[in-house]
Amino acid sequence: MFSELQKDLNERAAQGLLRQRRMLQSPQSPHIVIDGKSYLSFCSNDYLGLANHSQLIAALQQGAQLYGAGAGGAHLVSGHTQTHHELEAALAAFVNKPATLLFSTGYMANLGVVQALADKRDTVFADKLNHASLNDAMQLSRATVKRYRHTDMTQLAQLLGQTGSGRKLIITDAVFSMDGDLAPLPELLALCEQHDAWLLVDDAHGFGVLGEQGRGSLAHSGIASPRIIYMATLGKAAGVFGAFVAAEQVVIDTIINNARSYIYTTATPPALASAVLASLQLIANGDELRGQLQRLIAQLRSGLQNLSLSLMPSPTAIQPLLVGGNQAALNLSTGLHERGLWVAAIRPPTVPQGTARLRITLSSAHKAADVTRLIEALHELAH
Ligand code: PMP
Repeated sequence: MFSELQKDLNERAAQGLLRQRRMLQSPQSPHIVIDGKSYLSFCSNDYLGLANHSQLIAALQQGAQLYGAGAGGAHLVSGHTQTHHELEAALAAFVNKPATLLFSTGYMANLGVVQALADKRDTVFADKLNHASLNDAMQLSRATVKRYRHTDMTQLAQLLGQTGSGRKLIITDAVFSMDGDLAPLPELLALCEQHDAWLLVDDAHGFGVLGEQGRGSLAHSGIASPRIIYMATLGKAAGVFGAFVAAEQVVIDTIINNARSYIYTTATPPALASAVLASLQLIANGDELRGQLQRLIAQLRSGLQNLSLSLMPSPTAIQPLLVGGNQAALNLSTGLHERGLWVAAIRPPTVPQGTARLRITLSSAHKAADVTRLIEALHELAH
């Protein structure tokens, strides 16, 4: 077995597809230390620079003083604490939904929601560029799966029209994780209303960043509906860890009772909930952070306008530079690395064949001078 496994890994390496980890020796921030060397990083999802914020660290410490290190049980047994509960109430108010439910991770939230709400009598409609966790979720649910071309509402309408009995659930990233573009949420909701379908919106990359006070993609696109089941993660802009689902109370109660990734797992440490409560305050008061992020996005896009490679059309903190070949993307990432810059190359199967890219992400913790350094390095390498 070992030689078989090694052969597979060697083949991956030959195709430029071997995945390897790098070890950080510093907290997450634009300036990180790897193997004893400093790098300017453009590949975290810490969009507001909160992951190492002093107020979050203090709240985490305080939470640990009050509740200890671990929850010690599942939410439905003995692990559901007052601080988890307070966070659920605060999140519900923040995203303007009747109820929310905390999950350990966004991956588990997506698995749990889709599995709890759809089964083999039902149909799940999914954008082809959805995150892997949504793709896995629909397979796990055993519902009939219909995938539509990226943001193609005409094809989705056709598929909905051809589907008869059973529940219909449309699932989509709100901000596509590897492309940075936005799902057409108002159009998706209109189709849901027309076809009596549900809409699961995964706002991993919009929560905290988009909409008034960072309330997320629903606020950004000005839509609200009991049909929408909203999921957002807490390990990206919120700077901590975990995820939550927001929906009508009866939907949340159904998830509590049916979602295996909720029922059969230990609750996250309560101290994390305390840290997220502090993070919510910073997010709500974070217009200056979001303004800085917008300025950096504009600076990067204008600085790379004349580059031989193109930035994908994204208005968000995710600014992918399309390269194409796997090796070419790796070479570019290596070239930046040699210049002290850290940008990850994203390759298939995370993205479609022939669309390997540098996934540049910006954070409000970056300075304009940091973005200038990246722009200059990319121009040098593209020559
Ligand atoms: N959905 C999307 C769109 C994501 O990008 C991610 C994280 N990469 C997740 C879900 C999973 O979230 P988590 O990291 O909390 O498991």
